[in-house]
Amino acid sequence: MNDHILEDLKAARETCWINEEMHHFSEEKERLLLKKEDIEDASVRLERFAPLIEKLFPKTAKDHGLIESPLREIASARAELEKKCGELPEGRLFLKCDSHLAIAGSVKARGGIYEVLKHTEELAFEQGILKEGDSCEKLLKHRDFFAGYKMQVGSTGNLGMSIGIMSAALGYQAIVHMSADAKEWKKKLLRSKGVTVKEYADDYGRAVIEGRKLSEADPKSYFVDDEHSKDLFLGYAVAGERLRKQVEEQQITVNETHPLFVYLPCGVGGAPGGITFGLKQIWGDNVHCFFVEPVQAPCMAAALVTEKGSSICVQDLGLSGKTEADGLAVGRASQLVYEMMRYILDGEFTVEDEKLPVYMRLLWDAEQICIEPSSCAAFDGYTAMLHSSESIARYNEIMKNAKGATHILWATGGSLMPEEVRQELLERVR
Ligand SMILES: *Cc1c(COP(=O)(O)O)cnc(C)c1O
Repeated sequence: MNDHILEDLKAARETCWINEEMHHFSEEKERLLLKKEDIEDASVRLERFAPLIEKLFPKTAKDHGLIESPLREIASARAELEKKCGELPEGRLFLKCDSHLAIAGSVKARGGIYEVLKHTEELAFEQGILKEGDSCEKLLKHRDFFAGYKMQVGSTGNLGMSIGIMSAALGYQAIVHMSADAKEWKKKLLRSKGVTVKEYADDYGRAVIEGRKLSEADPKSYFVDDEHSKDLFLGYAVAGERLRKQVEEQQITVNETHPLFVYLPCGVGGAPGGITFGLKQIWGDNVHCFFVEPVQAPCMAAALVTEKGSSICVQDLGLSGKTEADGLAVGRASQLVYEMMRYILDGEFTVEDEKLPVYMRLLWDAEQICIEPSSCAAFDGYTAMLHSSESIARYNEIMKNAKGATHILWATGGSLMPEEVRQELLERVR
């Protein structure tokens, strides 16, 4: 039954895969590699580091050094979408504005910053800079110490900004290995923060391989490994309890008769996977997560549809891996995330590049919120839900006994986009 979906993927046609082997989360969580306690550990560490974040980035002061984004209802955008796309799933529509997270301006501010902090704490304890009971603000006095160490990462752009900005602020020599897809403005911004940017003519996979190799050869270097990192994943997963608070504050009901649908743009899988894992801890089978990927780079869809995980890449399907959605330009999924998602993700959608600026424009006109094209992929899972027989069947199954529903589009990046880049993108759609 997955055959026709594989054909769609190969032909770069928009398609939808619905997971027919969902497990109840209460059972599945016992089998998963990472546990609730791991997320709690990450959450406590982020709180411990909040005073340091607040000092380094005064913009986070209103949340006392916790990096969090608003949850905003976008009723006007919903009305416009309905005009453009036809019937939409019922219920209120919200935007989770990780596009506007402090410091990195993207969802990567969750995982990336968490991993830098975790490594920094370990290094500081190991080298005696920090002792049990010390406040982490003490690290602010040790920039010279950190200047002796390197922090490296391979990135299509946003992960590099998150790791680069945070590690440069602590004093590290930060090196970001950028794939060919990376946008010029992201490289420029990084260089302006004192980060070294190395460029590769090849794709993201190559940037990661080269970065990893260089880092491994240097005992004073740490490599943030997007394809394998549990820490990144856990940093993202903290979003679950944070969203729970916001959902409660806004008096949104989520329970057996009020399902929550969440649409997440997916690259290597870490961000949407970590967030899904975090949300499942809170709402279990009452939250339904869907990933969205570009038609030319559907690496997680390929992993799930073929059940081959990270052993298959989009080039194996005859696809280019190239997309305007730079944040999603990934050819091979993370095996860790694939395994974590196999039985808890509701499904996957793929989207054509041309639609992304259209959604971007629509959101801007309707709500004056600007998000980058990669981010806009989330819209397409929502608007396509009632467009294929498979997703309609899943939707009806979820809604069978429902008295109401809520939908959240996860906006993953965009607030650091320069004005002229924004203008240029918006003007493409008239
Ligand atoms: C990185 C990124 C994603 C996806 O995150 P992965 O961990 O690569 O799956 C989505 N949107 C934007 C804007 C990103 O930068």
